Amino acid sequence: MDYKKYITVVEDWPKKGVRFKDITTLMDNGTAYKAAVDEIVKYSEDLNIDIVVGPEARGFIVGCPVAYALAIGFAPVRKEGKLPREVIKVNYGLEYGENVLTLHKDAIKPGQRVLITDDLLATGGTIEATIKLVEELGGVVAGCAFLIELTYLNGRDKLEGYDVLTLMKY
Ligand code: IMP
Repeated sequence: MDYKKYITVVEDWPKKGVRFKDITTLMDNGTAYKAAVDEIVKYSEDLNIDIVVGPEARGFIVGCPVAYALAIGFAPVRKEGKLPREVIKVNYGLEYGENVLTLHKDAIKPGQRVLITDDLLATGGTIEATIKLVEELGGVVAGCAFLIELTYLNGRDKLEGYDVLTLMKY
């Protein structure tokens, strides 16, 4: 499927010079959203995944329907202060400043095979931080799946040695 025709490119948002890829117009379309989810499910079937992990908030939009289809669990990665129980944390650099991501300490059992999902791979900072959290708990990152990859930001360089699926490239 030509997924790109369902993505809206918003110029100068959230700030001047950025061409934001809005996935809500893909989600709006049941056929396109289902096709994208189905493709990630198909990719995952060969990887023997035990659990899906995704960073807030758009990682949930991609990962939860995949987990449902595979009849496995989903563990949310969230910003600091959002998860109610004991968490592990990771700091990662943003263009300006730092961000902290957290994961419940008991979300993943050692040796579990994990699929990480997000809407978009840009610099790779978010996925790299998410991988750190999963691996700190002893999870095995069996695959990473994104709707969109911004190839010019070279996020793949941070994912060397990992299995990666992206449905669209810009
Ligand atoms: P990275 O950490 O630089 O790879 O940025 C990826 C994160 O930023 C993802 O969690 C995305 O949701 C978000 N992001 C960056 N650019 C866009 C965009 O153009 N559209 C939607 N999300 C974006």
